[in-house]
Amino acid sequence: MKKHFSTDSATTGLLSRLLGGSNAGPVKAVDGVSFDLLENETLGVVGESGCGKSTMGKSLLRLIEPTSGDIRYDGESLTDLSDREMRDRRQHLQLIFQDPGSSLNPRMKVKHLLREPLTNFRSLSREEQERQIDELLQRVDLPTTVKDRYPHELSGGQQQRVVIARAIALDPEVIVADEPVTGLDVSVQSNILSTLADIQDELDLSLLFIAHDLAVIRHISDRVMVLYLGHIAELGDSEAVFANPQHPYTRMLKQSIPRSHPEQEKDEVGADTGEPPSPSNPPSGCPFHPRCPAYIGDVCEQEYPEEVELADGRSVACHHFEDGDEPVPEGRDLGGSETDTDGSPAVDPSADGAASVADVPDVAEGNVDG
Ligand code: SF4
Repeated sequence: MKKHFSTDSATTGLLSRLLGGSNAGPVKAVDGVSFDLLENETLGVVGESGCGKSTMGKSLLRLIEPTSGDIRYDGESLTDLSDREMRDRRQHLQLIFQDPGSSLNPRMKVKHLLREPLTNFRSLSREEQERQIDELLQRVDLPTTVKDRYPHELSGGQQQRVVIARAIALDPEVIVADEPVTGLDVSVQSNILSTLADIQDELDLSLLFIAHDLAVIRHISDRVMVLYLGHIAELGDSEAVFANPQHPYTRMLKQSIPRSHPEQEKDEVGADTGEPPSPSNPPSGCPFHPRCPAYIGDVCEQEYPEEVELADGRSVACHHFEDGDEPVPEGRDLGGSETDTDGSPAVDPSADGAASVADVPDVAEGNVDG
């Protein structure tokens, strides 16, 4: 699936220029992603600002129309459906946005917000609606007394719980959660993540969870997808990817998480990852090559690396790998040399023209939203 934004209009032209590009080409927000979201799994999507993760989430539900490609749900192509048919399918495919304040109509009380989807899609008596509204509130750990409140009378965490309750009102099978805990206090984040995990389990939901916070993604995901400039850099089992990342970009992200040991943190903060290029003017070949500490040479600048499947089942898009390769063991760089404990090469790879990890800047606080 691809989603490119034309830069013909004044708005997208301005967006392109703000992203550091020119008016010449489209903004390639999502430039060819292909993956399965499995039943009852949480697939975490992580990457820096501008990597295309939110655009991808909205395109999957056709809240914005993809430029090309196909999106299949239960064997049916969503891209072929009329607006009316798509509206019907959205009972099963829900989206949770980052900002609950703007997702909830400020003029409606909580009970009206929760009644709305039930009225639109279900034929229920008033008593049955009331019973279901109470049940939804309990499911998201809110007291039923909030029913008569307006959104502005609730905290940010409570508002997001109302958004989640609305999202599950019609027993969906898929939820795309776009930065659902960003901006909330850490303790509130943790509680909402637990609530989401419980709901996912109870309802056998498939959850596409988009975030820029690696700790959050690791906490909630069964599998993780790392996006870079609209491409999948690495996709695989969450524990495997975080324990021993293979793609140089995933390794860079992992190194950006602060360590508890002061010496380790000092090493890491000394690293320099630079800014991601503009999606309207992406680098040739591998889009990560200008920042890559494991750069091989011309092939990285000239050929886009196709995704290959490693022996442990994860996929990686990097010229260092071929189908069926064993993952490179932890503590070794992609050329096979020993690395320091923080994952940086013990031997300076710049001898082959590659940038040193010491030249790759940190992206701070486990939060990759540069
Ligand atoms: Fe780095 Fe080359 Fe792999 Fe891209 S293909 S991640 S530039 S080594």
